[in-house]
Amino acid sequence: MSKKEKISKLVDKYYDDIVLVNDTVWDFAEPGMKEKKTAEFYVDFFKKRGFKVDEGVGEVPTAFVAEWGEGKPVVGFLGEYDALPTLSQEAACPVKKPVTEGAYGQGCGHNSLGAAAAGAALAFADYLSENNIKGTVRFYGCPGEEYGSGKVFMARNGLFDDLDIALTWHPGDMNKITTTSSLACISAFFEFHGVSAHAAGNPHLGRSAVDAAELMNVGVNYLREHIIPEARVHYAYVNAGGIAPNVVHDYAKVHYFVRAPKIKTAQEIFGRVQDVAEGAAKMTGTTMKMIFHEALCDYNPNRPLEQVMQKAFEEIGAPQFDENDFKLAEQFRNTFTQADIDDIKKTFLDLEVDEKDIPEGDALHISVIPYKALNKVMPGSTDVGDVSYCAPTAQCNVATVALGTPGHSWQMTAQSRSGIANKGNVTAAKVMALTAAMAIDDPELLKKAKEELVKSTGGKYDCPIPADVKPTL
Ligand SMILES: [Zn+2]
Repeated sequence: MSKKEKISKLVDKYYDDIVLVNDTVWDFAEPGMKEKKTAEFYVDFFKKRGFKVDEGVGEVPTAFVAEWGEGKPVVGFLGEYDALPTLSQEAACPVKKPVTEGAYGQGCGHNSLGAAAAGAALAFADYLSENNIKGTVRFYGCPGEEYGSGKVFMARNGLFDDLDIALTWHPGDMNKITTTSSLACISAFFEFHGVSAHAAGNPHLGRSAVDAAELMNVGVNYLREHIIPEARVHYAYVNAGGIAPNVVHDYAKVHYFVRAPKIKTAQEIFGRVQDVAEGAAKMTGTTMKMIFHEALCDYNPNRPLEQVMQKAFEEIGAPQFDENDFKLAEQFRNTFTQADIDDIKKTFLDLEVDEKDIPEGDALHISVIPYKALNKVMPGSTDVGDVSYCAPTAQCNVATVALGTPGHSWQMTAQSRSGIANKGNVTAAKVMALTAAMAIDDPELLKKAKEELVKSTGGKYDCPIPADVKPTL
């Protein structure tokens, strides 16, 4: 039996388990860093299947590591599970219909992400055992991807340092290896304190914190011209002082994200944003306090390892959807805006796919995009970036939803518990487990992957979150 056949058989054996994890975590739909029921469920799940589990790792109560086997090589599968606010939606229902109005929902498919990674870990452990191969298999229960930077705190605590390889994936609308990078991101709050006063009676005695916040934002908007165009700076008022125009407000708070293709660049720009905030405080006679929230690194692709994953994906093939899946996907497609549909072509073109290979009119993606190492940054951020600075990392996207499904949407929540997701999850589990099986069989590859990591990072990981900043629980 070929490696592919062995792995496929082992993953198929865990089909019911993968569905169980997918659906249970979808039902829980807990917020980032507060995934209490989800983590309990997972810990019990892995203990019952012969893994030993370390709970509450990386300073986060809902983070855990489940481990099987011993010695080298060490292979890690990353699972996520947090949900998004206001995206509650009935499963597989192509009409907007929340289960509970305003509640959290799996609008980024992280229930599927963890389910397939768990399936890969279980199948790969069996593969080692059945073939008398020495090694350690780990499933990383990673909380707070959307909010909280769970993996960054896990990385800060050295949890990924001894991995030979780290593998993960993300549910989505297409089948491809991730060869692009993602943006590093720094998140911080800026608080201004002033002096309150009657706005008509004695404004000369007041010092407005709202003025300071506004001037900071104006200053940062002027800064935009003088930073690289790939950088992104966003802000939101967390507290705009108050609702009475006839009061000089003594408190205001804004929340900033600074993103850039490399963490070092993001840190530089963030320093300039801090200068602007200080300037705004000076101009208004207020005081400013910066509260560091979280940060994460850019994704550092590992070419040798991602090529193995591509080979594994091509051997396994795209998910095998059936007639019902296509029917359901078509119904979801009818809910998309023309802009969503138009965006499909743009996404493929951005990935430099030949125009003739773009499946624009199809409801589901049924092929695997050919390999192309793209030196591009996709505008978005993920804490997988920090793992990719600690260990050679590869990731892929597998179709679990209709082509053109927008990210962070009710349509994503709905399809993340459906027949479409089940097929995609099984494929993702097989691709990851087969990648692991191929990689550990090739010591030369493991060496090359490690060398590439050292070359790209200088062999060390500087956690972008300062040592005194604790996780936001
Ligand atoms: Zn996600």
